[in-house]
Amino acid sequence: MNLPNRYIDLHVHTNYSDGTFSPEEVVRYAQEVELTAIAITDHDCVDGILPAMEEAKDRGLEIIPGLELAAEIDDFEIHLIGLLLDWQDPWLKDQLNKIRNARTERMQKMVEKLNDLGIGIKMEQVMALSREKGAVGRLHLARALLEGGHISNIRQAFSRFIGRNGPCYEKRMIISPQEAIEMIRRVKGIPIFAHPGNMRHDEVIPDLIKYGLMGIEVLHTDHNASASNHYKQLAQNYGLLMSGGSDCHGAGKGYPLMGKVEVQYSILDTMREAQKKEYGE
Ligand code: AMP
Ligand code: FE
Ligand code: FE
Ligand code: ZN
Repeated sequence: MNLPNRYIDLHVHTNYSDGTFSPEEVVRYAQEVELTAIAITDHDCVDGILPAMEEAKDRGLEIIPGLELAAEIDDFEIHLIGLLLDWQDPWLKDQLNKIRNARTERMQKMVEKLNDLGIGIKMEQVMALSREKGAVGRLHLARALLEGGHISNIRQAFSRFIGRNGPCYEKRMIISPQEAIEMIRRVKGIPIFAHPGNMRHDEVIPDLIKYGLMGIEVLHTDHNASASNHYKQLAQNYGLLMSGGSDCHGAGKGYPLMGKVEVQYSILDTMREAQKKEYGE
């Protein structure tokens, strides 16, 4: 029998961070586009995983627990995804709570900077777009600016105000790549270098490997064929696992991206094998 290709998506956001879909909506959309497994990888938050699992029960869709962390190196940042981690670990939840509280304080500062420029945006407007106890971030702020008519598209928020070099940017709580990778490894997750094609800092890979990096996101919405090939080659050269996902933010960046990046199910099997080898059963 000819089985159809089974596609998965190992990078999806919900409204527990800056996606616009609830975990339940993510699951229903994933099914519409006929995915077999998806990883919930919210920024600094694992709370969307359980509701996604509950919605996915009896639907033949697998939910892979995940997380996305940002780490600072000098004057740039990189993103790390942790997959298959022990998401119920109390220590992890405690760490993430601290990081999310710092996000809320940081948002207050960005709102104040915008107000200083004469832009009448209120903290409550931003928080209304974010889920209580979720990870509030710049995409929420951008959406609030758009709703308020202060910009004409989401990208403008970043190019004018809250891009890294913008006048209203504030740093998040700073963690190093080593700390991010160690956090993921402490809960038996697979640390993956996220969308390296966006980051344009391949030179950091050897250090990341020293800290315990296990994989690299080869397939991603922002990787064209030549970038994907490049990172596939790098993964092979360094002996890293390959990962892939859409980085879907619901309608947060225009339209849903789930189903647009074709990632084979076998990638997940290989990852699970590697996890057993690394951490034991
Ligand atoms: P934060 O973690 O609060 O610093 O926000 C970072 C998030 O903002 C990223 O994960 C993206 O979702 C979004 N983002 C960053 N730069 C852009 C951009 N130029 N256009 C659209 N979204 C962006
Ligand atoms: Fe995001
Ligand atoms: Fe990212
Ligand atoms: Zn992401």
